[in-house]
Amino acid sequence: MTPSTPEQALAELRAGNHRFVTGAPQHPNQDAGHRTAVADGQHPFAVIVGCSDSRLAAEIIFDRGLGDLFVVRTAGHTAGPEVLGSVEYAVTVLGTPLVVVLGHDSCGAVQAAREGFRTGAALVGHLGAVVDAVSPSLLRASRQGVDDLDGIIDVHIAQTVETLLARSAVLAERVAAGRCTVVGMSYRLAGGEVRTVAQAPAPLPAPAAPADPALAG
Ligand SMILES: [Zn+2]
Repeated sequence: MTPSTPEQALAELRAGNHRFVTGAPQHPNQDAGHRTAVADGQHPFAVIVGCSDSRLAAEIIFDRGLGDLFVVRTAGHTAGPEVLGSVEYAVTVLGTPLVVVLGHDSCGAVQAAREGFRTGAALVGHLGAVVDAVSPSLLRASRQGVDDLDGIIDVHIAQTVETLLARSAVLAERVAAGRCTVVGMSYRLAGGEVRTVAQAPAPLPAPAAPADPALAG
C-alpha cells in the first residue's frame, strides 16, 4: 500500500534503505505489470531533492521502483526556481507527503564550493551557479565553527531544508498543516546507510527516561 502520511512515507524509506544496506533488496514495483499499472497516473510517496552524484541513485538506495519517488537532482542539491517548482508540483498536484533533501559524504559540489571560497578562483561556464548556491552553507558552517567536510555537508543539508521552506510558501503551508514533512538525510557512499540530520517540523522529543530509583533521594 502506498504511504499516505509523512510518518508512513518516512518509515517506508527507512525500511527500503535498511534492505539495501543489509544486502536484502526486494526491488519492489520494478516488474512489467507494475509498469503498466502506473502508466495512467503517479502517486509518489516521497520527493527526493538529492545531489546528482552518480552513486546516489534514489530508487536503488531506498529499494523502490516505478512511481514511488519523485526525484529532483542537482549537483549539491541546490534549491533554485526549477527545483522549487518541481517540489511544489509533487506536493500540491500529486499530494506527496514527504520531501527528503539527500546529501552525502565526499560531496564534490560542496568540496568545489569550499575550494572556491578559499582561493577565490572563478569557475568556467555555469559551475559558478552551483558554487554560489552552496556558499551560504559555507558561511553558516563557518559561523558555527564547523570546518570539517562532513560537518559542512550536514550544515548544507540542513540549510537546504530551511531554504526550501523559506522560498516555498506552498511547501511551508503544507508542513504547518501537518500534511507534509521535510527531512534532511546524509548518505554514506561506502556503507549505503542514510542518517537524518534535519527535520521540519522537528520531531517530538523522546520522553524523558524514568529516574533511576537507586539515585533518587
Ligand atoms: Zn554531491
